[in-house]
Amino acid sequence: MCNPKELLNKLSNVYSIDPKDFVAYYVCKNTSDVFKTFVATILSQNSTDKATYVAYNNLENKIGVTVDKILSISEDELKEVIKIVGLSNSKARYIKNIALFFKRNKIDELTRLPCDKLRELFLTVDGIGEKTADVVLVNCFKCKFFPVDTHIKRVMSRLGILGSKPQYKEIADFFISSLNEDELLELHQLLILHGRKTCTAKKPLCDKCVINYCCEYFSRMGKH
Ligand code: SF4
Repeated sequence: MCNPKELLNKLSNVYSIDPKDFVAYYVCKNTSDVFKTFVATILSQNSTDKATYVAYNNLENKIGVTVDKILSISEDELKEVIKIVGLSNSKARYIKNIALFFKRNKIDELTRLPCDKLRELFLTVDGIGEKTADVVLVNCFKCKFFPVDTHIKRVMSRLGILGSKPQYKEIADFFISSLNEDELLELHQLLILHGRKTCTAKKPLCDKCVINYCCEYFSRMGKH
């Protein structure tokens, strides 16, 4: 069984992280703006990076990604501007809800809260789920959380370290208990890259995989 440090070491030798491959990371790094990062994260759900950047830039150029600008337009207008990302009905509603949250809760006060409290508060907003909250908390607040997306779930299920169907919290706790904040963010990104490039949903490239020696799926295939 591979431990978190081992996964980090092995995967960091294979993939290099380009900030542009991670929309929330990129937006937070370049703007240091929590609201903009939430908007980018919502837009990216079930969408390609390319479509996400187009929608985000459309929104920035035509309306402006600020709390007041988003609250000043109708949900239908918002839907129209972001439609390229798909699921624009729900995404427009979520972005409006998040804008309202930041209108009522000032960012200066929020940043003084401990990470757990902040997470709890974010999760009260319709549209902010665990993954979205954790993505923003890890990228913008340097909190010690671990966002789990579909790629990470698939890789972890196949590795079998936590059984065949590990839940979000089990996966997050497994990594949080062994890694620091920077390592958590790095491994989060590396596992996503691994899921996109090697441990793909269909036909994973197991023979080329640097962690195949500790993978149950690979073992079941009779490869080792
Ligand atoms: S050996 Fe195959 S299934 Fe296992 S982690 Fe690597 S690519 Fe994924």
